[in-house]
Amino acid sequence: MTRRMRSKFVAGNWKMNGSLTANHQLLTALLSGAEGMPADSAAVLVPFPYLAQCSVTLDGSPLAWGAQDVSTHESGAFTGEVSAAMIADFAASYVIVGHSERRALHGESDELVAQKAVAAHNAGLIPIVCVGETLDDREAGRTEAVVARQLDAVLDGAGDEVLSSSILAYEPVWAIGTGRTASPQQAQDVHAFVRGRLRERFPALADGTRILYGGSVKAANAADLFAMADVDGGLVGGASLVPHEFMGICEAAFSASRAD
Ligand code: PEP
Repeated sequence: MTRRMRSKFVAGNWKMNGSLTANHQLLTALLSGAEGMPADSAAVLVPFPYLAQCSVTLDGSPLAWGAQDVSTHESGAFTGEVSAAMIADFAASYVIVGHSERRALHGESDELVAQKAVAAHNAGLIPIVCVGETLDDREAGRTEAVVARQLDAVLDGAGDEVLSSSILAYEPVWAIGTGRTASPQQAQDVHAFVRGRLRERFPALADGTRILYGGSVKAANAADLFAMADVDGGLVGGASLVPHEFMGICEAAFSASRAD
């Protein structure tokens, strides 16, 4: 019963890739593959300048769109930042917060990530909140401690209302862009841990909250990952730029949803 509350979802994180021409080709290919796809089952998360292109090209299609980061501020003297309301202006639905590349390269703290989730929620966007450990953390046996710290900051700072509209993503840093995927069991173990922690704090949300896995997901490994009880889909980087890979991952997600 609880599984039906969480149909699988696939989000493609384009990172800092694309051009108007390349996006047109990619989106056209995705749209032809997405015919008949259930609504609310896949999205592309694009660089800010391409939100307008997505809003024109994807409008009325089963594919949703969103951004990869958001400011905590609503407006004002914050040169270079983009507010949640600006993202929402382009009919976007989703925004990633706390991606490990932002945490590592831009020094984003757990608390800032929570504030970004709140800002996104307040503008009507669905935050996709990323957590995940480094290879050093995993090898030192700190996976659960790190994931708990990152998650707790969001549970404390954002609260149940924001969480009720959020998606969580477990993305082990050692698996992102490396070709080294977590095994289905490794992913399931951490997803179950995350869901358990959510249940301790917000029991009503635990069964309905989607937890995506991210880290070198491909069409070839998606079905095995999505077969795990607490893996509710994927956050996909590199493979989201390759139409047959992304559609293969979406297909694996729909098959897994149908099997639940
Ligand atoms: C990501 O960027 O969130 C990601 C998971 O990348 P990749 O699929 O390329 O590992």
